[in-house]
Amino acid sequence: MKLVFATNNLNKLAEVQKMLPSSIELLSLKDINCFDEIDETATTLEGNAQLKANHITEKFSYNCFADDTGLEVESLNGEPGVYSARYAGEPANSENNMQKLLTELENKENRKAQFRTSVCLNINGEQFLFDGICKGEILQQKQGEKGFGYDPIFKPKGYHQSFAEMSAEEKNKISHRGLAIQKLVGFLKKYK
Ligand code: IMP
Repeated sequence: MKLVFATNNLNKLAEVQKMLPSSIELLSLKDINCFDEIDETATTLEGNAQLKANHITEKFSYNCFADDTGLEVESLNGEPGVYSARYAGEPANSENNMQKLLTELENKENRKAQFRTSVCLNINGEQFLFDGICKGEILQQKQGEKGFGYDPIFKPKGYHQSFAEMSAEEKNKISHRGLAIQKLVGFLKKYK
């Protein structure tokens, strides 16, 4: 079975393909000649994942899944959440986003936060949602050089390192996206 992962990130694609039975062939957006800008205009992570997956299924008639991720900070009432990519404004810039978050949290004692990923799967006319959560806290300053996005200022609960100090393998085992994808992969096994 062919299944589209609504992404152009080939690293993400290869990683998920390795976890799937060989009977499921993952395709990227480029593989299906989709170069559309899919607007992420929903106000929830689930809504954005649905928008992306539905666009592919409706326009290209493929089974498909899409993901959307946000960083939810407790003392900021869940912000930046669904707006994480453009927290400091357009164009999206991780350095500015991290700086803005550190400034917002100055003088705040509660630095608890969680990353949350929502995955929407459209398969054979049905829709399923999976989520993954990684709890932790926002550090006082950046630590580490690996990863992307908010990784240098996020320390997962029970660890002494930030996400940016972990290898990709270590991070994937405990990360929000890793957990959501593990649920998706477990579910897809019955479609062998
Ligand atoms: P997306 O839904 O994967 O595009 O993620 C939205 C935004 O959340 C990105 O622009 C990143 O800034 C941030 N983000 C998503 N996943 C991670 C992660 O694993 N580590 C750090 N930041 C992330």
